[in-house]
Amino acid sequence: MTVGIVWIKDDFRLENNSALIHASKNHDTVSAIYIFNKEFFDNRREAQKWWISKSLESFGKNLNIYNINLEIIISKEVDFFSKLKGKNINLYWNKVYEPQQLNLDRKIIEMLDNNKIHYKLFKGNVLNEYQSITKKDGTPFKVFSPFWRHAEQIYLDKVPSDTSKIQKVKSKKNIFNSKNTFVNILPNKDWYKKFDNYWNVSEEESHVQLKHFLKERISKYGNDRDFPSLNGSSKLSPYIRNGQINVNTIWQKCSKVNKNIGVRKYLNELGWREFSHSLINYFPQMLKGNLRREFDRFPWEKNKKNLEAWKKGLTGYPIVDAGMRQMYETGWMHNRIRMVVGSFLVKHLRINWQEGERHFRNCLLDFNEANNVAQWQWVAGCGADAAPYFRIFNPILQGEKFDKNGDYVKKWVPELNKYPSKYIHKPWELDLKYQKSIDTVIGKDYPEPIVIHEEARKKALDAFKSLKKN
Ligand SMILES: Cc1cc2nc3c(=O)[nH]c(=O)nc-3n(C[C@H](O)[C@H](O)[C@H](O)COP(=O)(O)OP(=O)(O)OC[C@H]3O[C@@H](n4cnc5c(N)ncnc54)[C@H](O)[C@@H]3O)c2cc1C
Repeated sequence: MTVGIVWIKDDFRLENNSALIHASKNHDTVSAIYIFNKEFFDNRREAQKWWISKSLESFGKNLNIYNINLEIIISKEVDFFSKLKGKNINLYWNKVYEPQQLNLDRKIIEMLDNNKIHYKLFKGNVLNEYQSITKKDGTPFKVFSPFWRHAEQIYLDKVPSDTSKIQKVKSKKNIFNSKNTFVNILPNKDWYKKFDNYWNVSEEESHVQLKHFLKERISKYGNDRDFPSLNGSSKLSPYIRNGQINVNTIWQKCSKVNKNIGVRKYLNELGWREFSHSLINYFPQMLKGNLRREFDRFPWEKNKKNLEAWKKGLTGYPIVDAGMRQMYETGWMHNRIRMVVGSFLVKHLRINWQEGERHFRNCLLDFNEANNVAQWQWVAGCGADAAPYFRIFNPILQGEKFDKNGDYVKKWVPELNKYPSKYIHKPWELDLKYQKSIDTVIGKDYPEPIVIHEEARKKALDAFKSLKKN
Protein backbone atom coordinates (compact mmCIF):
# COMPACT_ATOMS: atom_id res chain seq x y z
CA MET A 1 0.00 0.00 0.00
CA THR A 2 1.39 3.44 -0.93
CA VAL A 3 1.99 5.78 1.96
CA GLY A 4 1.02 9.44 1.65
CA ILE A 5 3.71 11.87 2.79
CA VAL A 6 2.77 15.49 3.35
CA TRP A 7 5.65 17.93 3.35
CA ILE A 8 4.66 20.67 5.76
CA LYS A 9 6.26 23.97 4.84
CA ASP A 10 4.34 27.00 6.07
CA ASP A 11 1.04 25.31 6.80
CA PHE A 12 0.62 24.13 10.35
CA ARG A 13 -3.11 23.58 10.11
CA LEU A 14 -5.75 20.92 9.56
CA GLU A 15 -8.40 23.22 8.07
CA ASN A 16 -8.12 24.32 4.47
CA ASN A 17 -4.82 22.47 4.04
CA SER A 18 -5.22 21.02 0.55
CA ALA A 19 -2.16 18.74 0.55
CA LEU A 20 -3.01 17.20 3.91
CA ILE A 21 -6.70 16.76 3.13
CA HIS A 22 -5.90 15.14 -0.21
CA ALA A 23 -3.45 12.69 1.39
CA SER A 24 -5.87 11.74 4.17
CA LYS A 25 -8.55 10.94 1.60
CA ASN A 26 -6.35 8.85 -0.64
CA HIS A 27 -4.10 6.84 1.69
CA ASP A 28 -4.58 4.49 4.61
CA THR A 29 -1.29 5.64 6.08
CA VAL A 30 -0.19 9.25 6.07
CA SER A 31 2.87 10.84 7.59
CA ALA A 32 3.59 14.55 7.80
CA ILE A 33 7.19 15.71 7.64
CA TYR A 34 8.72 19.03 8.58
CA ILE A 35 12.22 19.57 7.22
CA PHE A 36 14.32 21.99 9.25
CA ASN A 37 17.17 23.24 7.10
CA LYS A 38 19.61 24.82 9.57
CA GLU A 39 21.40 26.78 6.88
CA PHE A 40 18.21 28.50 5.88
CA PHE A 41 17.63 29.69 9.44
CA ASP A 42 21.06 30.28 10.94
CA ASN A 43 21.63 33.83 12.14
CA ARG A 44 18.39 34.82 10.46
CA ARG A 45 14.77 34.31 11.38
CA GLU A 46 15.71 33.74 15.04
CA ALA A 47 12.31 34.67 16.49
CA GLN A 48 10.61 32.53 13.93
CA LYS A 49 12.41 29.42 15.18
CA TRP A 50 10.49 29.83 18.42
CA TRP A 51 7.17 30.09 16.60
CA ILE A 52 7.95 27.06 14.45
CA SER A 53 8.95 24.91 17.41
CA LYS A 54 5.67 25.80 19.14
CA SER A 55 3.79 25.15 15.91
CA LEU A 56 5.32 21.70 15.61
CA GLU A 57 4.29 20.90 19.15
CA SER A 58 0.64 21.91 18.80
CA PHE A 59 0.21 20.73 15.22
CA GLY A 60 1.76 17.34 16.05
CA LYS A 61 -0.89 16.86 18.75
CA ASN A 62 -3.71 17.77 16.35
CA LEU A 63 -2.41 15.40 13.68
CA ASN A 64 -2.30 12.55 16.20
CA ILE A 65 -6.09 12.69 16.47
CA TYR A 66 -6.19 11.75 12.79
CA ASN A 67 -3.62 8.94 13.19
CA ILE A 68 -0.98 10.99 11.43
CA ASN A 69 2.57 11.25 12.72
CA LEU A 70 4.48 14.50 12.42
CA GLU A 71 8.15 13.73 11.87
CA ILE A 72 10.79 16.42 12.23
CA ILE A 73 13.74 15.98 9.90
CA ILE A 74 16.85 18.09 10.38
CA SER A 75 18.51 18.11 6.97
CA LYS A 76 18.81 19.96 3.70
CA GLU A 77 15.67 19.33 1.72
CA VAL A 78 17.52 18.09 -1.36
CA ASP A 79 19.60 15.61 0.68
CA PHE A 80 16.51 14.22 2.33
CA PHE A 81 14.45 13.81 -0.83
CA SER A 82 17.31 12.17 -2.70
CA LYS A 83 17.06 9.26 -0.26
CA LEU A 84 13.44 8.50 -1.10
CA LYS A 85 14.32 6.53 -4.22
CA GLY A 86 12.59 3.15 -4.28
CA LYS A 87 10.20 3.98 -1.45
CA ASN A 88 6.56 3.34 -2.10
CA ILE A 89 5.32 6.82 -1.32
CA ASN A 90 3.27 9.63 -2.79
CA LEU A 91 4.42 13.09 -1.81
CA TYR A 92 2.21 16.18 -1.44
CA TRP A 93 2.82 19.76 -0.46
CA ASN A 94 1.35 23.26 -0.61
CA LYS A 95 3.38 25.86 -2.42
CA VAL A 96 5.16 28.78 -0.74
CA TYR A 97 5.44 31.77 -3.02
CA GLU A 98 8.99 32.89 -2.38
CA PRO A 99 11.49 32.68 -5.25
CA GLN A 100 13.94 30.58 -3.21
CA GLN A 101 11.19 28.15 -2.22
CA LEU A 102 9.85 27.87 -5.75
CA ASN A 103 13.36 27.20 -7.06
CA LEU A 104 13.78 24.51 -4.44
CA ASP A 105 10.46 22.99 -5.54
CA ARG A 106 11.76 22.81 -9.10
CA LYS A 107 14.92 20.97 -7.98
CA ILE A 108 12.94 18.53 -5.91
CA ILE A 109 10.42 17.91 -8.66
CA GLU A 110 13.26 17.03 -11.01
CA MET A 111 14.61 14.58 -8.47
CA LEU A 112 11.20 13.03 -7.87
CA ASP A 113 10.62 12.70 -11.63
CA ASN A 114 14.00 11.02 -12.07
CA ASN A 115 13.18 8.58 -9.29
CA LYS A 116 9.62 8.00 -10.48
CA ILE A 117 8.13 9.12 -7.22
CA HIS A 118 4.58 10.37 -7.53
CA TYR A 119 3.92 13.87 -6.18
CA LYS A 120 1.34 16.62 -6.32
CA LEU A 121 1.59 20.30 -5.41
CA PHE A 122 -1.31 22.42 -4.21
CA LYS A 123 -2.07 26.11 -4.06
CA GLY A 124 -0.50 27.66 -0.96
CA ASN A 125 -1.68 30.24 1.55
CA VAL A 126 -2.74 33.02 -0.81
CA LEU A 127 -6.03 34.16 -2.30
CA ASN A 128 -4.69 34.13 -5.85
CA GLU A 129 -1.49 32.66 -7.20
CA TYR A 130 0.59 35.62 -8.33
CA GLN A 131 0.84 34.28 -11.90
CA SER A 132 -2.89 34.76 -12.40
CA ILE A 133 -2.77 38.52 -11.72
CA THR A 134 -1.26 40.52 -14.55
CA LYS A 135 -2.27 43.55 -16.58
CA LYS A 136 -4.06 43.02 -19.88
CA ASP A 137 -0.72 43.02 -21.71
CA GLY A 138 0.58 40.24 -19.46
CA THR A 139 3.00 42.43 -17.49
CA PRO A 140 2.91 42.59 -13.69
CA PHE A 141 1.28 45.39 -11.72
CA LYS A 142 3.58 47.84 -9.94
CA VAL A 143 0.84 49.92 -8.35
CA PHE A 144 -1.30 48.53 -5.56
CA SER A 145 -4.82 49.91 -6.30
CA PRO A 146 -5.25 48.54 -9.84
CA PHE A 147 -3.57 45.30 -8.72
CA TRP A 148 -6.06 44.82 -5.93
CA ARG A 149 -9.13 45.84 -7.97
CA HIS A 150 -8.18 43.20 -10.49
CA ALA A 151 -7.11 40.55 -7.97
CA GLU A 152 -10.24 40.94 -5.86
CA GLN A 153 -12.46 40.45 -8.89
CA ILE A 154 -10.57 37.38 -10.02
CA TYR A 155 -10.89 35.92 -6.54
CA LEU A 156 -14.60 36.72 -6.33
CA ASP A 157 -15.18 35.04 -9.68
CA LYS A 158 -13.86 31.77 -8.36
CA VAL A 159 -14.03 31.78 -4.56
CA PRO A 160 -13.03 28.22 -3.65
CA SER A 161 -16.08 26.17 -2.78
CA ASP A 162 -14.16 23.08 -1.66
CA THR A 163 -14.94 22.67 2.01
CA SER A 164 -13.63 19.13 2.38
CA LYS A 165 -12.08 18.21 5.68
CA ILE A 166 -9.21 16.02 6.80
CA GLN A 167 -10.13 12.37 7.45
CA LYS A 168 -8.84 10.02 10.09
CA VAL A 169 -6.52 7.51 8.41
CA LYS A 170 -6.43 3.81 9.21
CA SER A 171 -2.96 3.13 10.49
CA LYS A 172 -0.28 5.22 12.08
CA LYS A 173 3.39 4.75 11.26
CA ASN A 174 6.67 6.47 11.88
CA ILE A 175 7.99 6.24 8.33
CA PHE A 176 11.39 7.90 8.72
CA ASN A 177 12.11 6.98 12.35
CA SER A 178 13.01 10.54 13.13
CA LYS A 179 14.05 11.16 16.74
CA ASN A 180 13.98 14.94 16.47
CA THR A 181 11.51 16.95 18.47
CA PHE A 182 10.35 20.53 18.33
CA VAL A 183 12.91 21.35 21.06
CA ASN A 184 15.76 20.81 18.58
CA ILE A 185 14.59 23.83 16.67
CA LEU A 186 14.51 26.44 19.44
CA PRO A 187 17.02 29.30 19.12
CA ASN A 188 20.06 29.15 21.40
CA LYS A 189 19.17 32.43 23.04
CA ASP A 190 17.15 33.06 26.14
CA TRP A 191 15.37 36.11 24.86
CA TYR A 192 12.75 34.07 22.98
CA LYS A 193 11.38 32.67 26.25
CA LYS A 194 9.46 35.91 26.80
CA PHE A 195 7.30 35.18 23.79
CA ASP A 196 5.51 32.56 25.90
CA ASN A 197 3.94 35.46 27.82
CA TYR A 198 2.33 36.90 24.72
CA TRP A 199 1.43 34.13 22.31
CA ASN A 200 -0.46 30.89 22.28
CA VAL A 201 0.71 29.18 19.13
CA SER A 202 -1.94 26.87 17.73
CA GLU A 203 -4.44 26.60 14.93
CA GLU A 204 -7.30 26.77 17.44
CA GLU A 205 -6.01 30.04 18.84
CA SER A 206 -5.92 31.67 15.42
CA HIS A 207 -9.62 30.85 15.01
CA VAL A 208 -10.46 32.16 18.46
CA GLN A 209 -8.69 35.42 17.67
CA LEU A 210 -10.31 35.80 14.29
CA LYS A 211 -13.74 35.18 15.77
CA HIS A 212 -13.16 37.75 18.49
CA PHE A 213 -11.79 40.26 15.99
CA LEU A 214 -14.75 39.86 13.63
CA LYS A 215 -17.25 40.12 16.45
CA GLU A 216 -15.77 42.93 18.52
CA ARG A 217 -13.37 44.99 16.50
CA ILE A 218 -13.72 44.83 12.76
CA SER A 219 -16.34 47.57 12.49
CA LYS A 220 -13.85 50.01 14.05
CA TYR A 221 -10.81 48.57 12.29
CA GLY A 222 -10.60 51.37 9.69
CA ASN A 223 -9.88 53.89 12.42
CA ASP A 224 -8.49 51.93 15.35
CA ARG A 225 -5.80 50.10 13.36
CA ASP A 226 -3.67 53.27 13.37
CA PHE A 227 -3.57 53.72 17.14
CA PRO A 228 -0.99 51.46 18.72
CA SER A 229 -2.48 51.47 22.21
CA LEU A 230 -5.94 50.39 20.99
CA ASN A 231 -5.28 46.82 19.92
CA GLY A 232 -7.30 47.65 16.81
CA SER A 233 -5.77 45.21 14.32
CA SER A 234 -6.22 41.43 14.19
CA LYS A 235 -2.69 40.46 15.33
CA LEU A 236 -3.07 37.40 13.15
CA SER A 237 0.10 38.04 11.15
CA PRO A 238 2.29 35.33 12.74
CA TYR A 239 -0.53 32.81 12.39
CA ILE A 240 -1.02 33.71 8.74
CA ARG A 241 2.69 33.66 8.08
CA ASN A 242 3.12 30.19 9.52
CA GLY A 243 -0.14 28.93 8.12
CA GLN A 244 -2.07 28.24 11.33
CA ILE A 245 -4.85 29.88 9.36
CA ASN A 246 -5.42 30.09 5.64
CA VAL A 247 -6.23 33.51 4.16
CA ASN A 248 -9.06 31.86 2.22
CA THR A 249 -10.64 30.90 5.55
CA ILE A 250 -10.28 34.52 6.69
CA TRP A 251 -11.91 35.77 3.51
CA GLN A 252 -14.79 33.33 3.87
CA LYS A 253 -15.39 34.31 7.49
CA CYS A 254 -15.20 38.02 6.61
CA SER A 255 -17.76 37.55 3.87
CA LYS A 256 -20.26 36.36 6.48
CA VAL A 257 -19.92 39.55 8.51
CA ASN A 258 -22.13 42.54 7.67
CA LYS A 259 -20.26 44.41 4.98
CA ASN A 260 -18.80 47.57 6.44
CA ILE A 261 -15.86 49.81 5.89
CA GLY A 262 -13.82 47.80 8.40
CA VAL A 263 -14.22 44.58 6.44
CA ARG A 264 -13.22 46.30 3.20
CA LYS A 265 -10.20 47.85 4.83
CA TYR A 266 -9.20 44.54 6.38
CA LEU A 267 -9.43 42.64 3.10
CA ASN A 268 -7.45 45.47 1.55
CA GLU A 269 -4.58 44.67 3.94
CA LEU A 270 -4.68 41.04 2.86
CA GLY A 271 -4.46 42.56 -0.62
CA TRP A 272 -1.14 44.21 0.30
CA ARG A 273 0.12 40.80 1.30
CA GLU A 274 -0.88 39.42 -2.11
CA PHE A 275 0.70 42.42 -3.84
CA SER A 276 3.98 41.89 -1.98
CA HIS A 277 4.06 38.24 -3.02
CA SER A 278 3.49 39.25 -6.60
CA LEU A 279 6.28 41.84 -6.45
CA ILE A 280 9.00 39.57 -5.08
CA ASN A 281 8.24 36.90 -7.65
CA TYR A 282 8.11 39.19 -10.66
CA PHE A 283 11.02 41.30 -9.44
CA PRO A 284 13.16 38.90 -7.37
CA GLN A 285 16.07 41.32 -7.66
CA MET A 286 14.32 43.40 -4.98
CA LEU A 287 15.20 40.74 -2.40
CA LYS A 288 18.83 41.78 -2.80
CA GLY A 289 18.58 45.50 -3.48
CA ASN A 290 16.55 48.54 -4.49
CA LEU A 291 13.72 47.98 -6.91
CA ARG A 292 14.24 51.54 -8.13
CA ARG A 293 17.85 51.34 -9.24
CA GLU A 294 18.54 55.08 -8.90
CA PHE A 295 18.61 54.42 -5.13
CA ASP A 296 21.79 52.39 -5.68
CA ARG A 297 23.53 55.77 -5.64
CA PHE A 298 21.94 56.94 -2.40
CA PRO A 299 24.62 58.17 0.02
CA TRP A 300 23.68 55.91 2.96
CA GLU A 301 25.46 56.50 6.25
CA LYS A 302 27.39 53.73 7.95
CA ASN A 303 26.92 54.57 11.61
CA LYS A 304 27.12 51.60 13.94
CA LYS A 305 26.39 53.64 17.04
CA ASN A 306 23.14 55.03 15.68
CA LEU A 307 22.12 51.66 14.28
CA GLU A 308 22.62 50.04 17.69
CA ALA A 309 20.67 52.83 19.41
CA TRP A 310 17.81 52.22 16.97
CA LYS A 311 17.87 48.47 17.50
CA LYS A 312 17.89 48.83 21.27
CA GLY A 313 15.15 51.45 21.43
CA LEU A 314 17.52 54.15 22.70
CA THR A 315 17.17 56.87 20.06
CA GLY A 316 15.64 59.42 22.44
CA TYR A 317 12.45 59.55 20.35
CA PRO A 318 9.88 57.82 22.56
CA ILE A 319 7.56 56.56 19.80
CA VAL A 320 10.49 55.00 17.94
CA ASP A 321 11.94 53.46 21.09
CA ALA A 322 8.56 52.09 22.16
CA GLY A 323 8.17 50.31 18.82
CA MET A 324 11.63 48.77 18.85
CA ARG A 325 11.17 47.57 22.43
CA GLN A 326 7.72 46.18 21.70
CA MET A 327 9.24 44.10 18.90
CA TYR A 328 12.13 42.85 21.02
CA GLU A 329 9.85 41.93 23.89
CA THR A 330 6.89 40.40 22.00
CA GLY A 331 8.16 39.52 18.50
CA TRP A 332 5.54 41.82 16.93
CA MET A 333 5.21 45.53 16.26
CA HIS A 334 2.21 47.66 15.39
CA ASN A 335 1.95 48.52 11.68
CA ARG A 336 1.98 52.32 11.99
CA ILE A 337 4.93 52.12 14.33
CA ARG A 338 6.76 49.85 11.87
CA MET A 339 6.39 52.70 9.38
CA VAL A 340 7.61 55.26 11.92
CA VAL A 341 10.68 53.31 13.03
CA GLY A 342 11.44 52.37 9.42
CA SER A 343 11.24 55.96 8.28
CA PHE A 344 13.42 57.04 11.21
CA LEU A 345 16.14 54.58 10.22
CA VAL A 346 16.24 55.39 6.52
CA LYS A 347 15.52 59.10 6.68
CA HIS A 348 16.60 60.51 10.05
CA LEU A 349 19.61 58.24 10.32
CA ARG A 350 20.03 57.66 6.56
CA ILE A 351 20.97 54.05 7.23
CA ASN A 352 20.31 51.61 4.41
CA TRP A 353 16.87 49.97 4.68
CA GLN A 354 18.52 46.57 4.30
CA GLU A 355 19.93 46.90 7.84
CA GLY A 356 16.39 47.39 9.12
CA GLU A 357 15.06 44.57 7.01
CA ARG A 358 17.70 42.22 8.43
CA HIS A 359 16.93 43.21 11.99
CA PHE A 360 13.18 42.74 11.52
CA ARG A 361 13.89 39.35 9.91
CA ASN A 362 15.49 38.19 13.13
CA CYS A 363 13.02 39.73 15.54
CA LEU A 364 9.57 39.38 13.99
CA LEU A 365 7.43 36.32 14.55
CA ASP A 366 5.48 37.26 11.44
CA PHE A 367 8.57 37.83 9.31
CA ASN A 368 7.96 36.92 5.73
CA GLU A 369 10.19 37.81 2.87
CA ALA A 370 7.47 39.29 0.67
CA ASN A 371 5.92 41.64 3.22
CA ASN A 372 9.14 42.61 4.90
CA VAL A 373 11.17 43.45 1.82
CA ALA A 374 8.27 45.13 0.01
CA GLN A 375 7.33 47.19 3.05
CA TRP A 376 10.88 48.26 3.82
CA GLN A 377 11.29 49.42 0.25
CA TRP A 378 7.93 51.16 0.50
CA VAL A 379 9.14 53.04 3.58
CA ALA A 380 12.50 53.86 1.98
CA GLY A 381 10.87 55.15 -1.19
CA CYS A 382 12.78 52.75 -3.44
CA GLY A 383 10.04 50.16 -3.91
CA ALA A 384 6.91 49.76 -5.98
CA ASP A 385 4.12 52.25 -5.28
CA ALA A 386 6.30 53.49 -2.42
CA ALA A 387 5.96 56.42 -0.06
CA PRO A 388 8.05 59.19 -1.69
CA TYR A 389 11.42 59.57 0.02
CA PHE A 390 10.83 63.31 0.56
CA ARG A 391 7.78 62.61 2.72
CA ILE A 392 9.47 62.32 6.08
CA PHE A 393 7.55 61.25 9.17
CA ASN A 394 8.08 63.59 12.08
CA PRO A 395 8.38 61.17 15.06
CA ILE A 396 7.10 63.81 17.47
CA LEU A 397 3.97 64.60 15.45
CA GLN A 398 3.36 60.92 14.70
CA GLY A 399 3.45 60.27 18.44
CA GLU A 400 1.17 63.20 19.23
CA LYS A 401 -1.32 62.16 16.57
CA PHE A 402 -1.48 58.43 17.14
CA ASP A 403 -0.54 58.12 20.80
CA LYS A 404 -1.90 61.37 22.15
CA ASN A 405 -1.82 60.48 25.84
CA GLY A 406 1.34 58.48 25.52
CA ASP A 407 -0.24 55.19 26.67
CA TYR A 408 1.75 53.17 24.15
CA VAL A 409 5.00 54.93 24.95
CA LYS A 410 4.50 54.53 28.70
CA LYS A 411 3.88 50.81 28.28
CA TRP A 412 7.13 50.13 26.43
CA VAL A 413 9.33 52.97 27.72
CA PRO A 414 8.49 52.88 31.42
CA GLU A 415 11.25 55.39 32.20
CA LEU A 416 8.86 58.04 30.94
CA ASN A 417 5.92 56.95 33.06
CA LYS A 418 5.82 60.13 35.05
CA TYR A 419 6.07 62.49 32.10
CA PRO A 420 3.03 64.70 31.46
CA SER A 421 1.25 63.88 28.15
CA LYS A 422 2.23 67.24 26.72
CA TYR A 423 5.92 66.24 26.84
CA ILE A 424 5.72 62.49 26.38
CA HIS A 425 6.82 62.68 22.72
CA LYS A 426 9.43 65.41 23.30
CA PRO A 427 10.58 64.78 26.87
CA TRP A 428 13.74 66.87 26.42
CA GLU A 429 11.57 70.01 26.36
CA LEU A 430 10.38 69.52 29.91
CA ASP A 431 12.03 71.92 32.32
CA LEU A 432 15.10 70.34 33.95
CA LYS A 433 13.81 71.17 37.42
CA TYR A 434 10.67 69.21 36.71
CA GLN A 435 12.66 66.33 35.15
CA LYS A 436 14.60 66.11 38.41
CA SER A 437 11.47 66.24 40.52
CA ILE A 438 10.10 63.14 38.71
CA ASP A 439 13.48 61.37 38.80
CA THR A 440 13.83 61.01 35.04
CA VAL A 441 16.46 63.30 33.64
CA ILE A 442 16.93 63.28 29.89
CA GLY A 443 20.49 62.38 29.01
CA LYS A 444 20.83 60.41 32.24
CA ASP A 445 17.76 58.22 32.77
CA TYR A 446 16.58 58.30 29.16
CA PRO A 447 18.71 59.29 26.13
CA GLU A 448 18.76 62.67 24.49
CA PRO A 449 17.63 62.50 20.85
CA ILE A 450 20.49 60.99 18.82
CA VAL A 451 19.69 63.39 15.97
CA ILE A 452 17.75 66.64 15.85
CA HIS A 453 14.62 66.22 13.78
CA GLU A 454 14.91 69.39 11.68
CA GLU A 455 18.61 68.86 10.94
CA ALA A 456 18.10 65.20 10.10
CA ARG A 457 15.19 66.06 7.83
CA LYS A 458 17.27 68.59 5.93
CA LYS A 459 20.18 66.15 5.52
CA ALA A 460 17.79 63.49 4.25
CA LEU A 461 16.30 65.85 1.69
CA ASP A 462 19.77 66.95 0.55
CA ALA A 463 20.82 63.33 0.16
CA PHE A 464 17.70 62.67 -1.87
CA LYS A 465 18.36 65.71 -4.07
CA SER A 466 21.89 64.45 -4.74
CA LEU A 467 20.30 61.39 -6.35
CA LYS A 468 18.47 63.56 -8.81
CA LYS A 469 21.59 65.61 -9.66
CA ASN A 470 23.54 62.46 -10.40
C1 LIG B 1 8.85 48.14 7.63
C2 LIG B 1 7.72 47.12 7.67
C3 LIG B 1 8.01 45.77 7.72
C4 LIG B 1 6.98 44.82 7.74
N1 LIG B 1 7.29 43.48 7.79
C5 LIG B 1 6.29 42.56 7.78
C6 LIG B 1 6.58 41.15 7.83
O1 LIG B 1 7.74 40.71 7.85
N2 LIG B 1 5.54 40.30 7.86
C7 LIG B 1 4.23 40.73 7.81
O2 LIG B 1 3.31 39.90 7.84
N3 LIG B 1 3.95 42.03 7.72
C8 LIG B 1 4.91 42.96 7.70
N4 LIG B 1 4.60 44.30 7.64
C9 LIG B 1 3.20 44.69 7.41
C10 LIG B 1 2.34 44.95 8.65
O3 LIG B 1 2.99 45.81 9.53
C11 LIG B 1 1.94 43.67 9.40
O4 LIG B 1 1.43 42.72 8.50
C12 LIG B 1 0.85 43.98 10.44
O5 LIG B 1 1.32 44.93 11.35
C13 LIG B 1 0.50 42.71 11.17
O6 LIG B 1 -0.40 42.96 12.19
P1 LIG B 1 -1.90 42.44 12.13
O7 LIG B 1 -1.95 40.99 11.84
O8 LIG B 1 -2.58 42.92 13.36
O9 LIG B 1 -2.43 43.22 10.85
P2 LIG B 1 -3.93 43.52 10.34
O10 LIG B 1 -4.05 44.98 10.28
O11 LIG B 1 -4.89 42.78 11.20
O12 LIG B 1 -3.89 42.97 8.89
C14 LIG B 1 -4.31 41.66 8.50
C15 LIG B 1 -3.25 40.96 7.74
O13 LIG B 1 -2.97 41.61 6.50
C16 LIG B 1 -1.59 41.52 6.20
N5 LIG B 1 -1.04 42.88 6.19
C17 LIG B 1 -1.40 43.92 6.96
N6 LIG B 1 -0.72 45.03 6.62
C18 LIG B 1 0.09 44.67 5.62
C19 LIG B 1 1.05 45.37 4.82
N7 LIG B 1 1.28 46.67 4.99
N8 LIG B 1 1.71 44.69 3.87
C20 LIG B 1 1.48 43.38 3.66
N9 LIG B 1 0.58 42.67 4.39
C21 LIG B 1 -0.10 43.30 5.34
C22 LIG B 1 -0.94 40.70 7.31
O14 LIG B 1 -0.90 39.35 6.89
C23 LIG B 1 -1.91 40.90 8.45
O15 LIG B 1 -1.89 39.86 9.38
C24 LIG B 1 5.63 45.26 7.65
C25 LIG B 1 5.35 46.64 7.61
C26 LIG B 1 6.38 47.56 7.61
C27 LIG B 1 6.05 49.02 7.54
